[in-house]
Amino acid sequence: MKHRLFRGGVHPEGGKELTKDKPIVPLDPGGTLVFPLSQHIGAPCLPLVEKGQEILRGQLIASPPEGRLGVAIHSSVSGKVKSIEMRPVVGGRGVSVVVENDGLAREVSFEERPRWRELSRESILSIISESGIVGLGGACFPTSVKLNPPPDSPIDTVILNGAECEPYLTCDDRIMQEHADDVACGTELLRRIFPDARIVVGLEENKPEAIEALSGAFAAIGADVEVRALPVMYPQGSEKQLIFAVTGRSVPSGKLPCAVGCLVQNVATVRNMYLAVAQGRPLMDRVITVTGEGIAEPGNFLVPLGTLVSRLIEVAGGFKGDPGKVIAGGPMMGFALTRLDVPVVKGTSGILVQPRSMTLVEPERDCIRCGRCIEVCPMGLEPYRLNRLALLEDYDAFVDEGGMDCIECGSCSYTCPSMRYLVQSLREAKRTAAARRRK
Ligand code: SF4
Ligand code: SF4
Repeated sequence: MKHRLFRGGVHPEGGKELTKDKPIVPLDPGGTLVFPLSQHIGAPCLPLVEKGQEILRGQLIASPPEGRLGVAIHSSVSGKVKSIEMRPVVGGRGVSVVVENDGLAREVSFEERPRWRELSRESILSIISESGIVGLGGACFPTSVKLNPPPDSPIDTVILNGAECEPYLTCDDRIMQEHADDVACGTELLRRIFPDARIVVGLEENKPEAIEALSGAFAAIGADVEVRALPVMYPQGSEKQLIFAVTGRSVPSGKLPCAVGCLVQNVATVRNMYLAVAQGRPLMDRVITVTGEGIAEPGNFLVPLGTLVSRLIEVAGGFKGDPGKVIAGGPMMGFALTRLDVPVVKGTSGILVQPRSMTLVEPERDCIRCGRCIEVCPMGLEPYRLNRLALLEDYDAFVDEGGMDCIECGSCSYTCPSMRYLVQSLREAKRTAAARRRK
């Protein structure tokens, strides 16, 4: 079937060659792990353990308040709870359970379900919720909630997101290559939940090995799933752009994908749905790409959640040269870290280290009205105007001009010849406008 090209978009430098051939390696998390109580969209969890308590890998250590949006948190190691305290996390500080790893990897007894294919929709959703699964593409929205859209928004198309358009990151690519069978089994769960929907995997055509592995895995179990190779274009993996590329449908401003009958799940999330439902294993680890020209031995690692970023860098051979910037995520949508003692959380897909020579920031210059930012904006916005409104703190006009539709993809900043801090100002303005609206 033909795909459609979403409007705008850019071709940022790949950087994927550093790790795309690096198989996933289990990572020893070291001595201290930190589990923030807020690592999903929804209410922060409440701790279920106390200082000094012995815990096991896979043990539930925190759960969301009764009746509130959120998902459970499980320990990824065995050991002792050292403290429950404020700790640095990506983007600030947050109450966290700090665990001293005993290195023995003693596990709870996971409940395998050999007849998982026969489970009811309700049972599947309940297991996914209890297993702490969120969207691993970075959104961190509770998966069980996403899989249960309102009855007046029937889903006719489920899209597995394997686009991984963010430069440098290859963790999803490796998952599709190395664990295609698990992803295929995960789609059987999606089929159980949405029996009448068509299922399509959307991924960029620069991942031929993943396309082959997935196609083989679906064929092996007779799954009716289309694998769709899409053009390499950033931000192909953004939900709205992927939906348009696969179905030609546009999600209206302020609406969710279910408004156009679609549901998108990241491939890593789908794999973890299978591990949770069939093998009884909650979300304890995730695959992370540690990469960049400033890291000695870039690679893909299976990382226990709660591992400190400093430990990831150590295992990946340490810094190469003078590190200029360490970013959680990729270069387009990631967050620069100001310290390395922050933990890996459910939404951490990569750690990127750029040497100082790559991070010299040119000063902002005046906008020359070249219009390039408008050309590349995949949401059809006028970034230079929104930037001006953000700087004027005119939040009503910012909202009126569609500022809240910005998906923070960074395409405008990437292309601006005047080095305007477009996405940064828009991100900030969105937060402020949303806070004003809540008030
Ligand atoms: S790309 Fe930069 S210089 Fe060109 S119109 Fe947009 S903000 Fe102005
Ligand atoms: S960051 Fe926002 S304004 Fe800039 S290109 Fe992306 S969607 Fe458009």
